[in-house]
Amino acid sequence: MQAMKIVFGSLIGVAIVGGMVAVLILGFVLLFVTGFEFGDEEMAFSNAPSQIAEEEIPEQFIPIYKEAGEEYDVPWLLLASIHRVETVFSSIEMVSPVNAQGHMQMMPCSWLGWDYPNCEGLGGTDIPEAIKTDPEKIEDYGGFGVDANGNGKASPWEEEDAIFAAANHLASYIDGNKGLREALFAYNHAHWYVEDVMHYYQLYNDGFAAKDGGIVEVYGDKAWVVPHTKNLTSGYGHRTMNGEQEFHGGIDVAGGNDRGQPIVAFKDGKVVVSQGNTGGFGNLVIIQHGDDMLTFYAHLMEQGVPVGTEVKAGQMIGKMGTSGNSTGVHLHFEVHVKKEKGGFQRVDPMPYVKAFLGS
Ligand SMILES: [Zn+2]
Repeated sequence: MQAMKIVFGSLIGVAIVGGMVAVLILGFVLLFVTGFEFGDEEMAFSNAPSQIAEEEIPEQFIPIYKEAGEEYDVPWLLLASIHRVETVFSSIEMVSPVNAQGHMQMMPCSWLGWDYPNCEGLGGTDIPEAIKTDPEKIEDYGGFGVDANGNGKASPWEEEDAIFAAANHLASYIDGNKGLREALFAYNHAHWYVEDVMHYYQLYNDGFAAKDGGIVEVYGDKAWVVPHTKNLTSGYGHRTMNGEQEFHGGIDVAGGNDRGQPIVAFKDGKVVVSQGNTGGFGNLVIIQHGDDMLTFYAHLMEQGVPVGTEVKAGQMIGKMGTSGNSTGVHLHFEVHVKKEKGGFQRVDPMPYVKAFLGS
């Protein structure tokens, strides 16, 4: 009986130890699996489509952008943004006045290669189609054309070929999310073009992605509110306007004549006011951060993101404009903090944005 008990006791012991080992092993396996999933999620997150992207980007192109993006390590939403700017997703004329061709509007010499004898200046207006689309010639002349659908021809008029070729072109200038602007400038030598594509890239990303892409400047939990400019034209406090004294309750960030540039949330928060053009502020968005701070974004081009939207620092909340009592394209930005006795009061935004202004 005694012996039986001992045997039984050690069996229980073995079972317990065995169980613990099993749990440990399972734990490690889970740790690894979730660890990897995390990594993937983060990767995906830096190129996660926004709601606008889901509404605007035609479904049939998405698998092609993704494949091309993976092949060349180019953000797929950037390819979608280029496609949007170039031909509105292949819905308009696909030969430009300067002879850019196909779905992604590449110049014939970029496609075939600038070593081709006829390629000087813009050149390439009379390249025979058979040469331009021959993968071997493209390799000889160092072009970006790709035969992605494997039909033996690399053609700017075929969706897959065109999108892969664009990715191939961009890939020679960028590293993942770095150097996007340089790569876009190389693709189409115009600053307006770069801003146009970046505008859509930002719209199509869910906001956090913007941080990773270096589009929005972020320090800690705060983002600079107008990614493309830091030109302050008016500070907080008393000033004279048209000969009259007035109190200016925020700072003005000038936008040149760049109407429509993105304005982003200063911190994580929730939109509590999103007003149409109803007064001095014009189109106004107010975001509440926690329960002790508000930020105001005024004179937007059109009504911003709706009330109730949960936003992340750096997420686009509206476009720069000159609505309301305003004489030029600018953002009027205010910071309000909670008073001890309740309610909010305006404060000088400068201490809050100082980190972005370099002093
Ligand atoms: Zn102002």
